[in-house]
Amino acid sequence: MTPTKFTKILSTLGPASAKPATIRALVEAGADVFRLNFSHGSHEQHREVHAMIRAVEAELGRPIGILMDLQGPKLRLGTFAEGKVSLPAGHRIRFDLDRTPGDATRVAIPHPEIIGAVSAGHELLIDDGKMRLTVVASGEGWVEAQTQTAGVLSDRKGVNVPSVTLPLSAMTDKDHADLLFGLGLGVDWVALSFVQRPEDLIEARAIIGERALLMAKVEKPAALACLEGIIAESDGIMVARGDLGVELPAEEVPVQQKRIVAACREAGKPVVIATQMLESMITAPSPTRAEVSDVATAVFDGVDAVMLSAESASGAYPVEAVSMMARIIARTEADPLQRKLMEAISSRVAATGTDAVGTAIRAVSAALPVSATVAFTASGSTTLRIANQRPRSPVVSLSPRAEVAGRLALVWGVRSRRCDTECASDAEMVAEATAACQAEGLIKPGAAVLLTAGVPFGTPGSTNLMRVVWPD
Ligand code: PEP
Repeated sequence: MTPTKFTKILSTLGPASAKPATIRALVEAGADVFRLNFSHGSHEQHREVHAMIRAVEAELGRPIGILMDLQGPKLRLGTFAEGKVSLPAGHRIRFDLDRTPGDATRVAIPHPEIIGAVSAGHELLIDDGKMRLTVVASGEGWVEAQTQTAGVLSDRKGVNVPSVTLPLSAMTDKDHADLLFGLGLGVDWVALSFVQRPEDLIEARAIIGERALLMAKVEKPAALACLEGIIAESDGIMVARGDLGVELPAEEVPVQQKRIVAACREAGKPVVIATQMLESMITAPSPTRAEVSDVATAVFDGVDAVMLSAESASGAYPVEAVSMMARIIARTEADPLQRKLMEAISSRVAATGTDAVGTAIRAVSAALPVSATVAFTASGSTTLRIANQRPRSPVVSLSPRAEVAGRLALVWGVRSRRCDTECASDAEMVAEATAACQAEGLIKPGAAVLLTAGVPFGTPGSTNLMRVVWPD
């Protein structure tokens, strides 16, 4: 049993960590959810890693979430006859649709959607923004752009167009195939990359249905312009600071991070902070002070999860990175200021029985010593709404549906368990709740267990009960 921590850790698996012993060590160090990054790897490799995670889950008897991250429409340059070209500042180069290898005068951007959507004044960012060009002219099938500084363009480098909403779906043919494959495996969450508008999520949801939860990666200025709509159509949001920091000036990223976190917390949607959190641990056994502070800031803000990318996927210290993150979380959550700052934002309370009970649980857990709140839930939505209220003790979620546990593994403060039977009586419910808290090692002497459910059982959205139980 890992120590009580409310903020969850989402750890990306890759060549450095996709092995049964390492996955187990990552879970024991504090990882709650694993990310399978579909920008890399074959279906066969993902199938193997998925099976390894499920095997560790069965071995440890603890739910582990699995998030598949779709690559999305990553736009790329064509190729050059010499592999690359060096360009001086102020140099004009034409981008067109002709896939013949390019040179210093022209090269392909084999995406008609970009060529057709940009015009004079727009910026093209190439190679994660290392080369910036301003479009000076455009015509049928071509644009001409001027370099802002000297630099190198080389084969298949990424292209970002920050100031334009591109007429592209967030899902390519590869994403469609990957999505169907991942849903077949039984992933808990699907993350959609380069979301630009709420319709992108509606399109993905039409395929996913109830089979997994849907996370929008916010990494484009276009998404920030319709953030509320995107949050409304998603089950969770990832602040994907890597690409966001390419498309926006760096100083905008923390401001937008705070804005996205506040909007998600108010809407009661899980939010994840991603990218470069402990970046220096890719090559070093300890992080910089600024990185530690970055993780702590997310915890102070009451986010649901913090994420590791290359640190745990391809770095030299994957287990140390998770364990460092867990220590930062534990220390920050132990600070009284953390609760005060986290409570500066609160979730909007809907006029529902679930939210009314959630508010009551928060008030009771501030007034009484409480070991945990036990939520009986079918779909997991009661647990989610209660966790949104950020009560002072963990939320133990009991659901008869196996898939709910993995989905809730990402959510702040939740310990999810399967309950096999539907409680027939009040006494059974109390016994089941107390046993679950005991199994989680949460019972504290002299502290109450709070219990919530919708009775009679079996009607979704019918939460109507909160009870204070004093275990013997
Ligand atoms: C990001 O850009 O921050 C991100 C998480 O996306 P990816 O790692 O898939 O590029």
